Amino acid sequence: MTRRPHPHAEEARLEHEGGSDGPLRTGAIVAVVGRPNVGKSTLFNRLVGKRLAIVHDEPGVTRDRHYADAVSLGKAYTLIDTGGFDPESDDPMRQGIKRQIDLAISEADVIICALDATQAAVAADHAEIALLRRTEKPVIYIANKADSPRLEADAADLYRLGMDHLIMVSALHGRGTAELEAAIAKALPDVAIDEPVTEGSPIRIAVVGKPNAGKSSLINRVAGGERVLVDSRPGTTRDPIDTLVERDGQSFLLIDTAGIRKKAKVSREDDVVEGASVIHAIRSMERAEVVLLMCDAAEGVSEQDAKILGLAVDRGRGVVIVLNKIDKLDKKALHDADEKAKDEMVFAGWAPRVHVSAQTGRGMKGLFDTVTRVAEAYRKRVPTGELNRFFENVLETHPPPTSGGRAPRLFFITQAESSPPLFVVVASDPTRLQASYMRYVQNQLRSELKLEGVPVRVKYKERRRRDLGAKKPDAPPTRGQHKKVVQPPRRSDD
Ligand code: GDP
Ligand code: GDP
Repeated sequence: MTRRPHPHAEEARLEHEGGSDGPLRTGAIVAVVGRPNVGKSTLFNRLVGKRLAIVHDEPGVTRDRHYADAVSLGKAYTLIDTGGFDPESDDPMRQGIKRQIDLAISEADVIICALDATQAAVAADHAEIALLRRTEKPVIYIANKADSPRLEADAADLYRLGMDHLIMVSALHGRGTAELEAAIAKALPDVAIDEPVTEGSPIRIAVVGKPNAGKSSLINRVAGGERVLVDSRPGTTRDPIDTLVERDGQSFLLIDTAGIRKKAKVSREDDVVEGASVIHAIRSMERAEVVLLMCDAAEGVSEQDAKILGLAVDRGRGVVIVLNKIDKLDKKALHDADEKAKDEMVFAGWAPRVHVSAQTGRGMKGLFDTVTRVAEAYRKRVPTGELNRFFENVLETHPPPTSGGRAPRLFFITQAESSPPLFVVVASDPTRLQASYMRYVQNQLRSELKLEGVPVRVKYKERRRRDLGAKKPDAPPTRGQHKKVVQPPRRSDD
């Protein structure tokens, strides 16, 4: 079937951007391990590259540069710099490496072991390889800093360490990264982690939080004797076990409940348990629509909680902050705990906070009602017509302020993606828009479109002149012209 040219080509292009032809979502975690200074973070940046700064989203999110989404040969995965996760990995002692590798072996699907091509093998390298031999998971060995053919030849000496294959890479200059990406893609599963979410499908929930926050208690309470789904997809190294529950006629899929019940056994050290809980959170968030951040209200919300929330916000997931163990608190203490949570997570002030006791069952109905509303917001698709009526209103009551003598103009808005929602505003001079104004638009979108608990992501794009017909690019702004541009395009699915 041939399609007629769209009357508003730019809008059509934006609406379909990021559509169904995206990369295969494998849900896999690829961890980079290696001694300090071998170039792990350089490699991380090389593999993640341009994808880091794509979407302008919530300001003030606690950012963690040690994990990011990456795509290799059409397969999407999460890349983790395990060294960065471990606060003591700069410790040149072997223990630092052991912790990293334990974490990677226990939590990742594919491991990249980075060695230094410019140095002869040292005892720590032998120890590293010995540790990695214990795992059945795919391990990709690279010799980094192989900046030239001569260095590549020298690095071949590292084969003495006993690996079958060593990829020569220069993370700094990009040499050898194509071979590395091919190896990563080969090690990743060939199937998508999940079916796409459809209107009637269960609401997908990730329960995340620090150790002992009460995640397993919550799962046990809501799952009770319900059946457990075993999802075994061929080709994956770690098959998640989900739990399906039904409440008030709505079904909910609790993601990877086996992973929650499993207590990290890799080491007794707190930071590894903490690291494992962060990786577990990343893994299950990848598959979730709504993330429940379980916090121990009796202990008080901490920076670590805020960091995990930041991971969810970065991914555009719907979030509900759950203050658990309220049975331990009197009214005043609960009020204080709630205030503390609000302060710690001020960057996500829009996220609903729900008070529960997983032990007594108090607050469960309120929790699931909130999750349902957040999931609705997450799945919402706002017709372009409605969106632009709202937008015209915003422009009329509060147009962008002048900046450097000129006021940037906003032409129209579309919802480029749902689940999670992403809006695109086409503007002249978007770089001149002030952060405060962008925040205003974001807040208006949230309140007018009732996007409860969902990070509202708005991307500002420079108008592409040729898409806007024969109009002179520098024609003065007139209301008539503006009106014309915001006409909704004809869409088959509106
Ligand atoms: P990490 O401690 O393993 O994360 O290592 P970094 O990524 O911080 O890199 C350590 C140093 O090695 C930095 O000065 C990098 O610029 C340098 N480096 C990283 N990759 C390469 C490379 O491919 N070639 C060269 N010549 N230097 C590199
Ligand atoms: P997880 O590590 O996040 O899965 O936490 P658990 O569910 O294992 O809970 C950790 C500890 O907190 C256990 O001793 C639970 O009994 C306790 N706990 C969990 N929820 C509650 C609650 O609502 N009230 C109280 N008083 N204790 C709780």
